[in-house]
Amino acid sequence: MSQSPFSTLPLHTDLLHNLESLGYHVMTPIQAQSLPHVLAGKDVIAQGKTGSGKTAAFGLGLLEKLSVKRFRIQSLILCPTRELADQVGKELRRLARTIHNIKVLTLCGGVPFGPQIGSLEHGAHIIVGTPGRIEDHLRKGTLRLDDLEVLVLDEADRMLDMGFQASIDAIIDQAPKKRQTLLFSATFPEKINNIAKRIMTDPIMVKAESKH
Ligand code: ADP
Ligand code: MG
Repeated sequence: MSQSPFSTLPLHTDLLHNLESLGYHVMTPIQAQSLPHVLAGKDVIAQGKTGSGKTAAFGLGLLEKLSVKRFRIQSLILCPTRELADQVGKELRRLARTIHNIKVLTLCGGVPFGPQIGSLEHGAHIIVGTPGRIEDHLRKGTLRLDDLEVLVLDEADRMLDMGFQASIDAIIDQAPKKRQTLLFSATFPEKINNIAKRIMTDPIMVKAESKH
């Protein structure tokens, strides 16, 4: 497969320059297959192994769409574990380091609510978190998703294996109906298909076989 540079995508020049400085010269196969659809605002289901570059495949989409001036939660990324949420938060901050004043907040369980509530009161553009804790904040009213534009389910197969289905449903109940939904998964069992049918609109399916 030919290797496409990121500059073939409709991305802001500051994002493109930052990708160069990070050493991201060409897209990985899953990025090349999904980013054009993600940037076009479509719902996308992308299947790719660990290390295939899935974070940038959704991250560049939500960063390109984001308005820093609107200090509202515009994107929510759900991850199965705190470690994965921390990794995604870190990668998003790297991808966004040329965007001034952008706030990426990570919200996971196993830590007290107080500091998280304080951070939420200060505001954020992007939230990365585990489904249980996000659901808890929604129930307490300490998090609202009225301005959400992009919802990402990262490692969706693992989230379902870990029993997060009900939490994910509760979160989606509180999200605007008009939104972009992106689902990333290493495998594509029937239960992913079922949830996708419920929460996505005419999703584009992409699959990267390459071990890149
Ligand atoms: P996945 O979520 O599919 O497991 P990640 O998004 O964590 O993969 O990316 C894996 C690694 O590849 C990270 O270290 C990331 O910085 C790097 N990476 C992602 N995209 C590119 C790219 N286009 N060029 C070079 N490195 C990349
Ligand atoms: Mg990942």
